[in-house]
Amino acid sequence: MSLLLVTTALSVVMLLVLTSLADSKVAGVREWGQANAIAVIALLLFATRGVVPDLLSIEVANVLMLLTVSLMYAGFRRHLGLPVPWRLLAAGSLAAFAGVVYFHVVHPALGLRVVAVSVYHAAICFAIHASLPRVADGRLRYPNAFTRTAAFLLGLGHAGRGAFYALDAYGSVSLLAPDVANLVFFAIGTLALPALSLGAVMLANARVLTDTAYAAEHDHLTGAPSRRAFFEIAERELARARRHGGGLGLLLLDADHFKRINDTYGHGVGDEVLRDLVRRAGDVVRKIDYFARLGGEEFGVLLPDANHQTAQAVAERLRAALDRSQPQRSAEGGVPYTVSIGLAMLDRGEDFAGLMRRADAALYAAKDAGRNQVVCAPTATPVEQQQPGGAKVIRLRR
Ligand code: GH3
Ligand code: MG
Ligand code: MG
Repeated sequence: MSLLLVTTALSVVMLLVLTSLADSKVAGVREWGQANAIAVIALLLFATRGVVPDLLSIEVANVLMLLTVSLMYAGFRRHLGLPVPWRLLAAGSLAAFAGVVYFHVVHPALGLRVVAVSVYHAAICFAIHASLPRVADGRLRYPNAFTRTAAFLLGLGHAGRGAFYALDAYGSVSLLAPDVANLVFFAIGTLALPALSLGAVMLANARVLTDTAYAAEHDHLTGAPSRRAFFEIAERELARARRHGGGLGLLLLDADHFKRINDTYGHGVGDEVLRDLVRRAGDVVRKIDYFARLGGEEFGVLLPDANHQTAQAVAERLRAALDRSQPQRSAEGGVPYTVSIGLAMLDRGEDFAGLMRRADAALYAAKDAGRNQVVCAPTATPVEQQQPGGAKVIRLRR
């Protein structure tokens, strides 16, 4: 009885925690919440055995508990983006329920009622275990490992409970004294739901954190990495370039006359152009390059381990891939657009702000020179190459 009340209290707590996650839009949370709400009623009915009619404390309580575990499983499947086999769940629950009714009304035997529900509970626990993937690292590793293990152990517990009562019912000698066995198996049975719910909450929580981190690090419109992620990577690459002496290039890329595109075709088409630009750019940059949307129609590309030649080659490839000035000539059609690119290579002792300033100046020079071209910023070193005005630009293409 006290175990039942403790479990009921735990289910209420889980319900409250899951309710706090209701707004998170994490798949599965709804089903897990429903499962715990129904469990609270079922557990209270089990606890009032003898006080309320048997129909409530046996048939209704068991049916609610079967529904609870089915919903838990459905929650895990939905959370993982997997289909929920509703028909199979309905068939399994019905079979277990038929067993409960049969061994209550037709051929009363408490042990065999336990067997009927234990088989279903064990199957559900093993199915939850099998649905959850093994995750090697990252935020999802612990929640997955916890839930997988809990589901497996609980499956074993339920299977053991079913086997014990089945053997007991047919008069076999059992290893455990019946009252001890009752307590052990009852504990396993009642702790299953809180344990699985705890795993569910961990998974939901990890999902919320992962989604939030993703949203902060990616641009919503184009899916490209965000300005924030760009500057984080930039600082890391800068430190690495300083440590190992490798070159670091920076491209600043800006769509030409973008305001005109918006004005001519509408903002929606402008958005589509930005998405198209990101897709094409992704196909062109090297695997180690880092492309991000810095804001509006401006993008940045970090080029680690690049010398001036490589950086120039990447910049020119990018410009050519994004020269959509005659898209109607290709089969794809679309709105014509072009981009201008400013390129700067990290100078010795320079910080990232300095590198950005020079790339930006080169970008302005590219705009001034007529757009749809790459301009390289002059390097500060070697000093003798610098022009007095500091505006030595190399025009790659017009
Ligand atoms: P320039 O060749 O000198 O770069 O000219 P521009 O028209 O591209 O430059 P300007 O800075 O005058 O205009 C940028 C425009 O980009 C204005 C702004 O409305 C548009 N823009 C910024 N972000 C978005 C966006 O997310 N979607 C759309 N459709 N337009 C955007
Ligand atoms: Mg522009
Ligand atoms: Mg701009």
